[in-house]
Amino acid sequence: MNVTLLSYTPDPERTCAAAALTSFWHKGASETHHVLSDEEIDDILTKVMGYGHVSVIEHATFTFSLEGISRACSHQLVRHRVASYTQQSQRYVEIENFSPVLPPSVRANRDAAKVYDDVMGSVKQAYEKLIGLGIDNEDARFVLPNATPTNIVVTMNARELRHFFKMRCCERAQWEIRDVARRMLACVRPVAPRLFRRAGPSCVCEGRCPEGDLSCGRIRGAADEEG
Ligand SMILES: Cc1cc2nc3c(=O)[nH]c(=O)nc-3n(C[C@H](O)[C@H](O)[C@H](O)COP(=O)(O)OP(=O)(O)OC[C@H]3O[C@@H](n4cnc5c(N)ncnc54)[C@H](O)[C@@H]3O)c2cc1C
Repeated sequence: MNVTLLSYTPDPERTCAAAALTSFWHKGASETHHVLSDEEIDDILTKVMGYGHVSVIEHATFTFSLEGISRACSHQLVRHRVASYTQQSQRYVEIENFSPVLPPSVRANRDAAKVYDDVMGSVKQAYEKLIGLGIDNEDARFVLPNATPTNIVVTMNARELRHFFKMRCCERAQWEIRDVARRMLACVRPVAPRLFRRAGPSCVCEGRCPEGDLSCGRIRGAADEEG
């Protein structure tokens, strides 16, 4: 898997801070945008995000290329609706070197890995045979599994990203989308540390775990450590 931050709003924190200032100052953002100091940006963002006025951080958007993730993973990703997506087409792009995503649990189990390899080999053969018989990509793809790799470009604003990280960086999220989410967070943190301060699963961003009996226990561990 490859996760790359392709582009993002220039000076994202300054843009969001200037937008926030618009709501409670007589000057417009065109006047304040370039003159805000780092301390002022920090102060404004700390305040507005602390108040829960997080619509201001919708002004910063981030575009990623996710390459070589499984279709199982991309399906979970696109459930996040406040985002824009462009995905590799299985109609236009014929799969030439089928190289399915291998879950770590299967990799770690020799017998399971054998079953997996056998099935994937049959799938590859079936797909190639169908193409050879003149079946269009759009129909031959029906034999492809969840493990089929895909490339997808996703754009989310900072508010939606924080929500996405809350849901998908959690230990309860499935391993592959959790891996994607953690890599995306690692990409945006250095470029917008204030927008992504305390971003992560609920136990990190809210200090609580909504998972009940299914909790991984990390939050209890943290509480025990704090006494
Ligand atoms: C651990 C885990 C297990 C899951 N298991 C399943 C499962 O078994 N089956 C399944 O179908 N899904 C499952 N999901 C997916 C989940 O139900 C959501 O569809 C997905 O996480 C998208 O998140 P979201 O709906 O909060 O928000 P997004 O689509 O990311 O939107 C962000 C926020 O915008 C608001 N919003 C967006 N659209 C609307 C709308 N139409 N109306 C009102 N408010 C809106 C909501 O406040 C929402 O939280 C699972 C997710 C996780 C993390």
